[in-house]
Amino acid sequence: MRDEKDGFWNPEVELMGAEDIRRLQLERLKGVLQRCKNSPFYRRWFRDAGFDPDAVRTLEDLRSLPPMDKDTLRSVEPWEFLTVPREDIVRMHSSSGTTGRATVIFHTWKDIQAWTELGARCLYMTGVRRSDVFQNMMGYGLFTGGLGFHYAAERLGAMVIPSGSGNSKRQIYLMREFGTTVIHVIPSYALYLLDVFREMGLDPRRDTRLRIALVGAEPHTESLRRRLEEAYGFKAYNSYGLSEMSGPGVAFECPFQEGMHVWEDAFILEVLDPRTLEPVPEGEEGELVFTTLHREGMPLLRYRTRDLAFVYPGRCRCGREHRRISRIKGRSDDMFIVKGVNIFPMQVEKVLLETVGVGTNYQIVLDMVGSREEMRVRVEVTDEIWHGDVRELQSLQKRITAALRDEILVTPIVELVEPGSLPKGEGKAVRVVDRRVDLGGE
Ligand code: AMP
Ligand code: ZN
Repeated sequence: MRDEKDGFWNPEVELMGAEDIRRLQLERLKGVLQRCKNSPFYRRWFRDAGFDPDAVRTLEDLRSLPPMDKDTLRSVEPWEFLTVPREDIVRMHSSSGTTGRATVIFHTWKDIQAWTELGARCLYMTGVRRSDVFQNMMGYGLFTGGLGFHYAAERLGAMVIPSGSGNSKRQIYLMREFGTTVIHVIPSYALYLLDVFREMGLDPRRDTRLRIALVGAEPHTESLRRRLEEAYGFKAYNSYGLSEMSGPGVAFECPFQEGMHVWEDAFILEVLDPRTLEPVPEGEEGELVFTTLHREGMPLLRYRTRDLAFVYPGRCRCGREHRRISRIKGRSDDMFIVKGVNIFPMQVEKVLLETVGVGTNYQIVLDMVGSREEMRVRVEVTDEIWHGDVRELQSLQKRITAALRDEILVTPIVELVEPGSLPKGEGKAVRVVDRRVDLGGE
């Protein structure tokens, strides 16, 4: 029986010391490399790199294998990655990318069980228990957010409402009717849902029993988290994952919320300088690169995520020695350049969401006007501001422009727009519309 008080789903693994974790990683890595010999892709990959899987003696030895990325996955038939017969595969998932060939991950039954366990561990760590009602507002289907934590919450024994994404009024109805206490949600959607609460004359603090939110699947700022916590009255935990590493459950915040613990019994984490592919010193930002240690059907070795973060030095107060990564600053390919300056959408979000009067949605639009680049930030304001004194609106516009200039060193055109007027999808938010590339013509 699990002790409700201790807060650890799997104390033996969660409380393992750093050295024991490394030992376990090496042992598991050796097993994974043996399995990889069954895969036509890995046989070629090893041969072309002159890499001998039998010669690996330390974790560092893995570094002589070149890292792989989405393009590597796309470049071959996904079946070629399999280290098991095809009939052992029970499910596939695919990444949410909208461009290029979909990247597919195949899972065996054991893989699904291992992923479910990791998910249950994450949920339990934040305080989710059997008595909770877990509303899973993530898309079900090829996207891993829905099914991944659906099974995790069931494993834990919570009651799951598989509401999926979208259908906002129904989401709110379900929350109220069945006493939802925990939601799993994309942060931009949680922010947007506040407008719907307001429209319905409801206040989530007063009219729901929400106490925990698991937010992830897209970059978001600390300011966004604070806004959600204030408006909903729940505690929001950052959840990181990607379909190539199975989905949510790769790294998660503990109650101390100083970074997300990467489950190092299941993944080898490297933080590399994206240009040189050399490891960066602890505490410095780099690209996260993962190796799966728990997946049997389709292991991935040294997978480059493009996600930028740093590892927190020191130990976490919760007692877990699984290393902690920072909030994801963004993907290296989210970065855009205006007038020679590198900008991440999250820098813009930070400024906006720290400004009183800013509403629940924003969008960055990049254009060419003649030969000049133009950056426009379209910002929804609150109802009060929109219907209030026009001078308030002007002053807000000036304040945002100045604050953005200080943060990103470029002066954008700030356009304040009516609440609810910017496009809002059900999935991950599209923060940047770059129209500069289309304008060249044929
Ligand atoms: P997908 O494989 O389609 O689910 O997309 C995974 C990607 O979503 C990751 O590589 C990250 O870029 C992003 N992502 C997922 N969780 C987070 C998070 N908590 N914070 C920031 N970005 C995230
Ligand atoms: Zn911790």
